[in-house]
Amino acid sequence: MNHSSSPAAIANPRCEYMTNPLGIDILCPRLSWEIISPVRGTMQTAYQVLVSTSETDFEKSNIVWDSGKIASDRSICCEYAGKPLESRNRYYWIVRIWDEMDCVSSFSHKAFFEMGLLQKEDWVAEWIEPTDQKIFLENVISADQADSGVEQTGADLLNVNNEGIAPPEERLNPCKLARREFCVKNIVKRARVYATAHGIYNVECNGKKVGRQEFAPGFTSYNQYLLYQTYDVTDMIQPGVNAIGAVIADGWYAGRVGFMGDNCQYGNKLALLLQLEIEYDDGSTQTICSDEKFVTSDGPLVYSDIFIGERYDARLEKPGWSMPNYEDTGWKPVQKADYGFDNLHAQYGESVEVVDELVPQQIIITPKGETIVDLGQNIAGRMRMKVSGKPGTVIRLEHTEVLNREGNFINNILGRNKDQTDVYILSGNGEEIYEPQFTFHGFRYVKITGYPGEVKLNNFRGVVLSSNMKRTGLFECSDERLNKLAKNIFWSQRANMFSIPTDCPQRERAGWTGDIQVFSPTAAFNMDVHAFLTRWLHNVWADQLPDGEVPMVVPYIDAYKTLAKVVGSDTSAGWGDACIIVPWALYNAYGDRQILEQSYDSMVKWVEYIRKTSETEIPDNLTGEMTPQRAEWQKYLWNTGFHYGDWLIPSLSMSKDGKDVDMFKSAMATKALVPTCFYAYATELMEQISNLLGKPQQAHSYAKLNQKVRAAFSSEYLHEDGSFTADFQGIYVLALRMRMVPEEMRSKVFAHLLKLIEQNDGKLDVGFLSVPFFLDELCRNGRLDLAMDMIYKTECPSWLYEVEKGATTMWEAWQAILPDGTVTSVSYNHYAFGCVGDWLYRNLAGLDKDLPGYKHIVIKPEPSAHMTYASAKYHSIYGNIVSEWKMLAGIFYLKVTVPPNTTARVYLPGKGLDGVAECSEIRKPITDCTEISDIRCENGKTSFEVQSGSYEFESFISKML
Ligand code: BGC
Repeated sequence: MNHSSSPAAIANPRCEYMTNPLGIDILCPRLSWEIISPVRGTMQTAYQVLVSTSETDFEKSNIVWDSGKIASDRSICCEYAGKPLESRNRYYWIVRIWDEMDCVSSFSHKAFFEMGLLQKEDWVAEWIEPTDQKIFLENVISADQADSGVEQTGADLLNVNNEGIAPPEERLNPCKLARREFCVKNIVKRARVYATAHGIYNVECNGKKVGRQEFAPGFTSYNQYLLYQTYDVTDMIQPGVNAIGAVIADGWYAGRVGFMGDNCQYGNKLALLLQLEIEYDDGSTQTICSDEKFVTSDGPLVYSDIFIGERYDARLEKPGWSMPNYEDTGWKPVQKADYGFDNLHAQYGESVEVVDELVPQQIIITPKGETIVDLGQNIAGRMRMKVSGKPGTVIRLEHTEVLNREGNFINNILGRNKDQTDVYILSGNGEEIYEPQFTFHGFRYVKITGYPGEVKLNNFRGVVLSSNMKRTGLFECSDERLNKLAKNIFWSQRANMFSIPTDCPQRERAGWTGDIQVFSPTAAFNMDVHAFLTRWLHNVWADQLPDGEVPMVVPYIDAYKTLAKVVGSDTSAGWGDACIIVPWALYNAYGDRQILEQSYDSMVKWVEYIRKTSETEIPDNLTGEMTPQRAEWQKYLWNTGFHYGDWLIPSLSMSKDGKDVDMFKSAMATKALVPTCFYAYATELMEQISNLLGKPQQAHSYAKLNQKVRAAFSSEYLHEDGSFTADFQGIYVLALRMRMVPEEMRSKVFAHLLKLIEQNDGKLDVGFLSVPFFLDELCRNGRLDLAMDMIYKTECPSWLYEVEKGATTMWEAWQAILPDGTVTSVSYNHYAFGCVGDWLYRNLAGLDKDLPGYKHIVIKPEPSAHMTYASAKYHSIYGNIVSEWKMLAGIFYLKVTVPPNTTARVYLPGKGLDGVAECSEIRKPITDCTEISDIRCENGKTSFEVQSGSYEFESFISKML
């Protein structure tokens, strides 16, 4: 072994994408680290990992894995391969690397991962339920009614409202408190709580909330995949008498959810499973479990529902209920329930937490005289309020995302059980602070009624909630409007990554598969979404139907099974495809093949479903002659059943005055052609994925299928002049991206796209499924200029139109606020159209990848006359990447950072090799710089390979402008 020391150091050691995770159940967890080095060109050539059961000792007796020196450049997701890991144990690990000179770094600082309960037998706790609960079913139409053909459309269902139903305090149930006491006789060395619930819960120990988690156990497909959380409570346990308790609310399990506000999706009884394990200094242990020693009671939460809101009557508080020696006579017994442990899994990935607090911007008194607190930012979260007043005073907080054209309060979210209203009833005991516990809202404005005295800014705080992922990407440029667009995209991601990836944080809050399919590349730039989306994919696999269909919404709750019956399909092209496209996006962003391996079966089943459907079904309304050839190619067209198509094409989904909204029109207009494009896309990706996973035969058959699908598509739908039977911008975009037309027809097809844009006054008219490819296809076909124009457009519909209309998040529909200021009743927080972020970062700032995980980076900025600088900073799985350019007096300056263990190709705009492209920091022409090699000149750009390090380059580009 060469032991001369390397200047490289190890940073950010992670296990399964998390820093020091507590309570995992992955038997061979993967370890990743970053390398920092003052020296350019540092590459890892080997590594050694040591895993020990002791924090202080990495001696032989404690070591469970010594990888030895492994010759490999792999610094991400190195799989643990030591002795079997045991329940509850904490494992400490360190790593060192050898660099390109075979010099060894020092060991990293210690990191750890701690195992949860790995065997069912580890659970000695029992499920307990309060004995006095009655949650009534509130569904609009039952699945049986839908089966028997109730004549309702998706749009009808959206129009169902609160009319005729009792106020929430008359039909919702109080949240339950559950408590018990226990005695601690010894010095506590460590104590853990393992807990989960049917419903959502907070654990309290000796009067304090345990952990930072909110909305635990999160939203998952509970029947197969219910997560338990692990909490370190060592410091919360005291000598003598202790108390532990939990508050349980309806949550996603029993509360009102989805499109129609149905409830009891998983059951109508709240339940708790809790196991507190104490290890004493002397080695003895004690386990306190959820069992019949627990007692329950109602508390101050008269009800708390995720969608409706919360009613808190402070007069009903039970001070000290989770403290020892609390007088709990009169509390009711609990009953044991036998739900078993088969569906239990350890928490994986980030949970929902408070991620930010906002000071409101202003108090508005509306023309109608309403008092409104304006956060200045649309968020998912809740309002914290300080107040004092007489006991019994009732304060209402009603949340909304927008005010109407006149500046008055409106509820833009229509539908049943979408109240988004919190009610607080004062105890009258001096200053009171209220913050809802088990509800969250999508809002910017809060109408306050009943507040005693003056409503002052200082008494309110916006509490931002989100799955607490690390922010990884930052985009900035000289145009403030584009900066605002990037911020709006980020805020929509924050609001919609709430335990699962949702469509919106107010109306449905559902795991619409199409929305995340479209947004995942942008999401992976903004935040480290790997663990978060992997967790969601577990639900996708769990909820995939036996015939391979991937539901339109995951977790696939009954509320959407009913909708599926009404629209006639559980899935849709471009939605179900999330099972391929999301893992593919993760693989590309993080270079982690495991997600492809884990997803492969599900992907195969999905494509098989498409293949069978295409082969066996023929549309009823087919016109024209059915020749034998046509009958043959029909087998490769996925053109039957309901699909959401290129959802929300602006010209089709709303009339110019905004009065006539028909979200389903674009589905109907495009559903014949869009699915086959996605069939081709799915087979194209499957060919690549199969090859990557070492399955050449499967790759070959997907490639063949792909060819047939593409050929069938142009035979059926393409006219000789390059137009399609469905003449919409999105269809041309998809056809070009998915290579649905013969090579020689591409230019004609592209010409049609250009014609449609021109006929639309130079504006876009694309929906959900085509928008991610729109600007890229313009660029790929030589019209970067037009893509730039699209980005800079401010007329409706366009990205900057929303910005100029004051958006603080991405809107569901391009024309949510009409040019005349009319405010329509759609969601103002949908990230789907924010997928343009990916294009901005890659093109304007020029930060892109050539190899998955940014192992080989591409820095290729596209400067335009519209801006003088742009920058993208991305914390990749290997470390920081920077691409930052500015233009001054015809000189283009570029700053680049390439992290160790990666390389990059840098493209300098300019005159090419005959121009002066100079590596300024090292003050030498780039040709002499050892870290720079393979200089090429293509299409007026000089490009070269760069090793890791930070650089500054210059080139003259005045000619270009
Ligand atoms: C959701 C979408 C979703 C769509 C299906 C809507 O109600 O909010 O974002 O993808 O339905 O087309």
